[in-house]
Amino acid sequence: KTILQQKLPSGQTLEICQGDLTAMKVDAIVNAANAHLAHGGGVAAAISRAGGPAIQQESSAWVRSHGPVSHAKPAYTSGGNMPCKYVIHAVGPVWGSGQEEEKLAAAILGSLALADELKLASIAFPAISTGIFGFPKELAASIFMQTIPEYFEDQPHGTLRQVMLVLYDTPTLTTFCQAFKEEF
Ligand code: ADP
Repeated sequence: KTILQQKLPSGQTLEICQGDLTAMKVDAIVNAANAHLAHGGGVAAAISRAGGPAIQQESSAWVRSHGPVSHAKPAYTSGGNMPCKYVIHAVGPVWGSGQEEEKLAAAILGSLALADELKLASIAFPAISTGIFGFPKELAASIFMQTIPEYFEDQPHGTLRQVMLVLYDTPTLTTFCQAFKEEF
């Protein structure tokens, strides 16, 4: 369910939604993964469950051939049984690991760049790092609101048209709506 929507100066639409990321009918959903793509908890476990065994199998194969996933260069798999075509596995920072703001921005930028590389039109993000990884929600929300328009200013000729931020719990939704209203 869309709560807020904004057309960016570069033409793409940014939306805030409440709901379950795994049900989104978009070209790619973004997973809040860890570097080893071991999808044990939080949204990663929900994606593994909804997508079926293909998600963990393809993820493990990715790590075997490419090594651990960095913040700036996300991995991707199919969407398995979910409506999305792809899952982009982005690695956000663990709060307390140092340079957390840069790392979160890198994970967002890397996901958008990968979606453009795959020639996708729509992408949906969860609130990366704000669950098990402990990143403060207010700070994460303002980084999302600044980093997404910046990406499109720098890369105006990609295929992406629609970016959704899909928030699951009400406190996170409220925080992201606040940051959205401050930014736009
Ligand atoms: P991280 O380890 O990066 O902190 P988590 O999965 O623990 O990632 O949490 C990230 C966010 O994902 C949290 O706000 C959590 O509430 C949310 N979340 C959990 N399940 C879902 C889901 N099915 N759809 C969207 N967001 C979800």
